[in-house]
Amino acid sequence: MSIKKIGVIGCGLMGSGIAQVIAQKGFQVIVREVSEDFLEKGLDRIQGFLAAGVKRGKVSQEEMDTTLGNISGTTLIKDLADCDLVIEAIVENLEAKKAVFAELDKVVKPEAILSSNTSSISITAIASATGRPDKCIGIHFMQPVPIMKLVEIVRPEITSEETYNRSRAFIESLSKVTVTAKDTPGFIVNLLLVPYLCEAVRAVEQGLATVEDIDTAMKLGTGVPMGPLTLLDFVGLDTTLYIMDVLFDQFHDPKYAAPPLLRRMVAAGMYGKKAGKGFYTYNK
Ligand code: NAD
Repeated sequence: MSIKKIGVIGCGLMGSGIAQVIAQKGFQVIVREVSEDFLEKGLDRIQGFLAAGVKRGKVSQEEMDTTLGNISGTTLIKDLADCDLVIEAIVENLEAKKAVFAELDKVVKPEAILSSNTSSISITAIASATGRPDKCIGIHFMQPVPIMKLVEIVRPEITSEETYNRSRAFIESLSKVTVTAKDTPGFIVNLLLVPYLCEAVRAVEQGLATVEDIDTAMKLGTGVPMGPLTLLDFVGLDTTLYIMDVLFDQFHDPKYAAPPLLRRMVAAGMYGKKAGKGFYTYNK
């Protein structure tokens, strides 16, 4: 059975990017958000990203119109009933994800694959909320989804060979490069990245250098496209804090312990670029 219609749950930073790249490849996508307001915001983000591409000559007006025509929105999970694959991209919280998977399991056709874009939560734990754990898998896109080539496929022991092969083939049909990771916290990318981000926040806490100088040092000193504090603003401080807490909870290793400064910034709503304020200030 081929994958023709895709559901995306959550149209925030990641969900909007995921919906866009899939629709850009000609697939039908339906996006579910919690309210009309959030849905409009998410669809506007997709439109804005494509419009910027048209302005820069990267996307044609026709491609933008076709892509937007391939995307529909809803606030009702039942509207995803005829999807072949659903990709969940809601907040990084196990209970919230389990609730969505349990609901999806009831409404989506039995052969459909249910996947999560989680950065750190166990796919096995999320899948336990369903009656089809063999059809659950992790599909972890990187941000910004339309630009980043990598997708981590997270393959728990309970996932069937067929689910893995179909999911991987579909993601590769989007011109993404896949790597396969076991269902262990943080998979590959975040397991290695998160301690580095923790250290960068601790360096700010300790007054080692200014935010700008820490970023410049790591950017020019290691050849990465952005420094760790800019990256934190970009990914979202709230999302990163969830990931740190999950990793610390699993490994009890201090290298994953969220620095108090990060926790205070999240409590103050300084989520980074999406909130207009994080380590830097942004025009919304
Ligand atoms: P976000 O806060 O930008 O967006 C989450 C969206 O989900 C919000 O718009 C919210 O309204 C919506 N939502 C919440 N509950 C919902 C529900 N029950 N049904 C439908 N929509 C719901 O978060 P994000 O950065 O897009 O992260 C989403 C997921 O992707 C998380 O699991 C995160 O760990 C993962 N992820 C994030 C990044 C990143 O760089 N931000 C990278 C890779 C993976």
